[in-house]
Amino acid sequence: MKYQQGQHFLMSPECRDMPIQHLVQIDEEEAYATFRQFRWPKTQGEPVCPHCGVLDCYANRRRAFKCSGCRREFSVTSGTVFAFHKLSFWKMLTAIWMSVNAVKGKAALHLSRELGVRYKTAWVLSLKIKEALGCAASA
Ligand SMILES: [Zn+2]
Repeated sequence: MKYQQGQHFLMSPECRDMPIQHLVQIDEEEAYATFRQFRWPKTQGEPVCPHCGVLDCYANRRRAFKCSGCRREFSVTSGTVFAFHKLSFWKMLTAIWMSVNAVKGKAALHLSRELGVRYKTAWVLSLKIKEALGCAASA
């Protein structure tokens, strides 16, 4: 990490690599590609089977993959807190961006209004993001 010891992470240069101007300009395909990069950084976004770790996977249907090793299906969100979520990748990415950039946390009601989703959806999404951040912090 490049940020100085004792410096709050949100003050570091790494936190400025995705300004909100970038986020509002990307479309659903770019948001999906960003999710793939986050999920499989070592293969530059190419899928890796979450069940057996095989790299030889092929697109089974739109945004789903099938493993050549164990023959199981998976997606970019399989095994994550976003599995089975029906929101667009852009909304999930935006929710993550807003949540991690809110120094004092992000209220679900605020998230609901900004994303244009129901309060319950924003509340669940907010909890899942907090869960993921908690897992990342304890790992
Ligand atoms: Zn597999």
